[in-house]
Amino acid sequence: MCGAPLRIGIDLGGTKIEGLALGRDGAEVARRRIETPNNYEQTLHAIEGLISFLDDEASAVSGQQVRGSVGVGIPGTLSPATRLVKNSNSTWLNGKAFDKDLEAIMGRPIRVMNDANCFALSEATDGAGVGAAVVFGVILGTGVGAGIVVGGHVLEGHQGIGGEWGHNSLPWPKDGEWPGPDCYCGRRGCLETYVSGPGMVRDHEAVTGQRLSTREIVAKAAGGNDDAMASRGRYVDRLARGLASIINVLDPGIVVLGGGMSNLPALAEDVQTALPPYVFTDKVDTTVLRNVHGDSSGVRGAAWLWPADDQ
Ligand SMILES: [Zn+2]
Repeated sequence: MCGAPLRIGIDLGGTKIEGLALGRDGAEVARRRIETPNNYEQTLHAIEGLISFLDDEASAVSGQQVRGSVGVGIPGTLSPATRLVKNSNSTWLNGKAFDKDLEAIMGRPIRVMNDANCFALSEATDGAGVGAAVVFGVILGTGVGAGIVVGGHVLEGHQGIGGEWGHNSLPWPKDGEWPGPDCYCGRRGCLETYVSGPGMVRDHEAVTGQRLSTREIVAKAAGGNDDAMASRGRYVDRLARGLASIINVLDPGIVVLGGGMSNLPALAEDVQTALPPYVFTDKVDTTVLRNVHGDSSGVRGAAWLWPADDQ
């Protein structure tokens, strides 16, 4: 679009909105982070201000007036059927024609996508997933989500829920794991209740009676505490089972781990080691890697919603 040598990515989070401008080569030109207003109209106008700021910064750097292409990652998804937002925990977005409303304000086309999909796209484009034809990018945070990228493009799916593995149940359940903890989605034993950050905290407390943060559990495990090491071990094995069930269907070349839990030391390596008993192959060639771009992956992926050949 507009022949612009600039891609703008916006990551709309529950508490912060991050904006990033990338030059054609993918280098960062400008960045700004602001608070997220808690209503719809103010959120649209906050994003408008952010885009204008990034346009102006990039124009100042390049010495000419430029208008970037704009991609936005949202918590939730645009329903392919209605083109309205659904499944957002920022509930004021639900039912809104977010892309059309923002386009009307900005006077340029806007691409909008689920934030986990943006993470996966970022890592597949110039992160840990580079070189793989199929990438499964996983968010392990307060919640659990994922995105699928095939040949450089996000596989959104028929209903816009492609990659939403967090509310599948934990596969190959062991004693005491079934039916599992209640999940907010109304089911029990969802992967999210086991492999999210709160899932690890709940599990450790259920087994030991001690309520510790994930950071404390991991530090104790590193220090050789038996209970904490066992909790970390259960976490790794459950994550491996969850990923194996995806690998058996999608067969990605690379799985990229993101979200707060991906910062656990050696998590990707340990999950890799735990995979073979659950994957239906003689030798597991899928590689599990930690993300490259960290917290910036969401906003970078939003910018990449306009690939070079579309601009
Ligand atoms: Zn659930």
